[in-house]
Amino acid sequence: MNLVIYNVQIFTNDDNNTILQEHAVVIEGSKIKDIIPDKEIDEKYRDFKKMDCHHRLLMPGLINTHMHFYSTFARGLALQKSPQNFHEILSELWWKLDSALDLKSIYYSALLPVINSIKHGVTSVIDHHSSPNAIEGSLDKIEEAMDLLGLRGVLCYEMSNRNGLDKCQLALEENARYIQKCRMEKEQNADHPYDGMVGLHASFTLDDGALKRAAELSWATDRGCHIHVLEDEVDRAETKDKFDRGVVIRLEEDGILGEKSIAAHGIYLTENEMNLLSATDTIVVHNPQSNMNNAVGRTNIFRLMEKNILVGLGSDGMTADIKLDTRAANLLHKHDLRDANTAHFEVQKMVLKNNAKIFNRVSGQKVGRIEKDYLADIILIDYCPPTTMTGENFWGHFLYGISDAPVDTTIINGRIVMHGKQIAGLDEENIAAHARECADDVWQRFAKL
Ligand SMILES: [Zn+2]
Repeated sequence: MNLVIYNVQIFTNDDNNTILQEHAVVIEGSKIKDIIPDKEIDEKYRDFKKMDCHHRLLMPGLINTHMHFYSTFARGLALQKSPQNFHEILSELWWKLDSALDLKSIYYSALLPVINSIKHGVTSVIDHHSSPNAIEGSLDKIEEAMDLLGLRGVLCYEMSNRNGLDKCQLALEENARYIQKCRMEKEQNADHPYDGMVGLHASFTLDDGALKRAAELSWATDRGCHIHVLEDEVDRAETKDKFDRGVVIRLEEDGILGEKSIAAHGIYLTENEMNLLSATDTIVVHNPQSNMNNAVGRTNIFRLMEKNILVGLGSDGMTADIKLDTRAANLLHKHDLRDANTAHFEVQKMVLKNNAKIFNRVSGQKVGRIEKDYLADIILIDYCPPTTMTGENFWGHFLYGISDAPVDTTIINGRIVMHGKQIAGLDEENIAAHARECADDVWQRFAKL
């Protein structure tokens, strides 16, 4: 697509939070080719298609660095008994729901949040998947749903011993197969928008053999691991019980940590464990809404960032709209610490800067800025600031205005996916009807588990 987007306020998301007025963004193919003053458009790009944005806000697409598309059919699902703790939330809800999924329901449970991501300005997602009775080809089904609308992604299948050694091996093979598939696609097309990681559930459901095989795949493919770490005390207690080691030291010794690896949550990290994550340059992703929903506690993002750990923000399946978790993060830390001045800098950094760095690290793709040679993942928001907006106060506008404002246009990889709040060719009612049919089948299988 050759396109010039003009008459906009451009939040570039560079290191200075530069906002450009009376400038245009030029897209050629999948990348940003140029940023020029509006008045030079006709002279330089006469033949390009033009998009007049009526002085609204243009910014880089948002990124969700820890998501579970497969959680969609939990909505409204009746549980046989109320979980009394985090382990029971897993065993009564998530480990039954994932067991009830087949390939068709994986597709529909991904498609709904894919649509919602695009509607809310999320252009890249790092997903973490589980479906122990439909492992082989499951990542292709998620990719198919993402590719229908062009949502960019990094996918993985969570290895776990909880369903036996054979399924853990199949999970490893699914990760290996998908990573290899993406590698081959990228050899043909460097802009291929999908990549893989090595997914793992959590230390307490993985034996040392599984961890070592995952680490070998990670080294052999130069792809990171993606694992839940100390989301609850149960991870530490059961790891100690079964393997007589701490969670993070175990992951380090078995080769899971590293600069491309993601440790999701990290709520119960000790000082030494944080030091180990810092020394290995491992990424941590904070998921505030999910943590509050499970009543498991609050990640100490401040201490992690003091130790130069790259901390990002994910939604952990709670929502496709990362702006909701952004607001939750802002409120959670202030409220919990009884400090109205805290978290302003940290949450901003996680959402705007670090999520882009994380995506770039794990996939090698340059996203997250409106800058020459970056991938053209851009959103247009119906936001005309009622007060002066500058680079210095942009975060205040984001938290209290932009996060509420409708997204008008979503562009991914240079392709206009949504324009005028419409996703062309999408029959949402029909998709939702198919999803409900799938969900009925999933719920019936769930009830028998
Ligand atoms: Zn998770």
